[in-house]
Amino acid sequence: MNTNFVVFSDFDGTITERDVIISIMAKFAPPEWKSVMRDILEEKITISEGVQKLFSLIPSSRKDEILDWVLRNIKIRTGFKEFLEFLNKKNIPFIVLSGGLDFYVYEYLKPYRELITDIYCNRAIFKKEFIEIEFIYECNSVCKNDCGMCKGYVIAKYEAGCKIHIGDSITDLSAIKVSDILFARGDLVKRLRRMSIDFIEFENFYTVIDKFNLILNSEAFKEKCHK
Ligand SMILES: [Mg+2]
Ligand SMILES: [Zn+2]
Repeated sequence: MNTNFVVFSDFDGTITERDVIISIMAKFAPPEWKSVMRDILEEKITISEGVQKLFSLIPSSRKDEILDWVLRNIKIRTGFKEFLEFLNKKNIPFIVLSGGLDFYVYEYLKPYRELITDIYCNRAIFKKEFIEIEFIYECNSVCKNDCGMCKGYVIAKYEAGCKIHIGDSITDLSAIKVSDILFARGDLVKRLRRMSIDFIEFENFYTVIDKFNLILNSEAFKEKCHK
């Protein structure tokens, strides 16, 4: 395995066209979800707090219905499979880091599973009347944002010359400090610009493949990222 490169990717709004959490809320939650989401995006509450609040609005009894709806209605971003095949040929690990819930993330990614090295996400619990979340990968000294699922924490655990993170929103901010190259779309683009942090913009995974090829052949990254 080429351990000098590791690619980490967000799930919601990155691998998927639409943010699955927002889509689930719009379809299954009472209208209060909107103000909770606003509070998360405006950083008035932490992501961990917000995600718990959001899912606590939905009865556990709707689990199967939600899963079925996600599998039928959420489209994959163009070029995703081709990107996985591209990485696989080069023996570069691909790791999914999702602040979403295991019961739909694993099912959704099933057709691609053998091309994915690992999946990290939160665990959904359906024992009580409303959905509860168990956070397995919480922030440590790397990050104090109370992410719930801390991407920065997971990325920091990996040893690699070159860590690449792909994302689209506020939940990807914890990855900034511990990644060497960032790919961004959506809301993350604005946030990174405001923070004057370098990134490569993308809209689909064909763009990511093209830019990745440039990185693989770039002098600037040769020493750092190549064996
Ligand atoms: Mg996202
Ligand atoms: Zn964190």
